[in-house]
Amino acid sequence: MNEMSDLYQELILDHKRHPRNFREMPDATRAVDGHNPLCGDQLRLFVKVSDRRVEDVSFVGVGCAISMASASMLTEAVKGKTVEEAERLFADMHDLLTSAHPRTDPAALGNLGVLAGVHEYPMRVKCATLSWHTLDTALNTEEDSVTTE
Ligand code: ZN
Repeated sequence: MNEMSDLYQELILDHKRHPRNFREMPDATRAVDGHNPLCGDQLRLFVKVSDRRVEDVSFVGVGCAISMASASMLTEAVKGKTVEEAERLFADMHDLLTSAHPRTDPAALGNLGVLAGVHEYPMRVKCATLSWHTLDTALNTEEDSVTTE
């Protein structure tokens, strides 16, 4: 468990310091604002979908290390996937981060599975799920903002 916890800390800090795909996207097909009032995390997620595939995904924002790291890891995981694959990943991540007894195997999700460590910090769960809810909103709705409340 300590090893998992170390890996969790390491990964969060690395992504917080060097967020991947941290940029605006002028030619995005969708841009959605996500807000977690509980912590003050705010981000804007950009996606470019073409032929039901997520060709590009990026984000900008301010927030705690977990919200920023989670968004950064999301962009790495979702880029190039089909919309269906991205939605399945959202469902798995939502299960992993919010269920008391997740059916999803963290090991099957690679780096993303490490985020399951957030279970040890219940106050941080919404920080970790914010970017995923924002992605879900971008892919499945016409809304341009979402809040974790
Ligand atoms: Zn937060």
